[in-house]
Amino acid sequence: MARYRGSVCRLCRREGTKLFLKGDRCFSEKCAIERRAYPPGQHGQGRVRFSDFGVQLREKQKVKRMYGLLEKQFRQTFQRASAMKGRSGENLLILLERRLDNVVFRMGYATSRAEARQLVKHGHFRLDGKSVKSPSILVNPGNTVTLRERSKKVERVVAALDALEGRSVPQWLEVETETQEGTVKQLPVREDITLPIDEQLIVELYSR
Ligand code: SF4
Repeated sequence: MARYRGSVCRLCRREGTKLFLKGDRCFSEKCAIERRAYPPGQHGQGRVRFSDFGVQLREKQKVKRMYGLLEKQFRQTFQRASAMKGRSGENLLILLERRLDNVVFRMGYATSRAEARQLVKHGHFRLDGKSVKSPSILVNPGNTVTLRERSKKVERVVAALDALEGRSVPQWLEVETETQEGTVKQLPVREDITLPIDEQLIVELYSR
């Protein structure tokens, strides 16, 4: 599957906000946003005024980059969200949250969604006891997410679980600390997604 291979810190600087794409580094003073809080490129420090379209586009790009999707996947997810009952914007965010790579990240098995995606692709996790390698699978209430026995010693996973201590898991998920087994207690609702997102702007953009 295609994926973005450039500098991820550039993406945060372009959006003017932390997208938390690099794990622990994002919480340190090495974070590029802390050091250069202006867009990348020759004209990055110039004044920019966005049109309505520009504001909507930037919001869509921000969310797409947060969850690590490319345009085609993101648009397909939006189309699916639009076909569901309820508000398209909320449905979109809930579909993104239910992706397995996001759930692995939220459960604390990885320090970023990109790392979670790679761990899933490498087959380190089981969903309801079955081996999975697709980061885009959507979880449902009652699903269990477990590490493969021999993956429990993978350095990155051990470090991520150590780093999780003291951080909280969203209320719609649960991780048993002894067995390191994660459970999806219920589907997320909009209030569970505390990221600074105005999903209505994305709906407006795709409705043009
Ligand atoms: Fe973004 Fe993290 Fe890089 Fe900071 S360190 S700019 S939050 S990816």
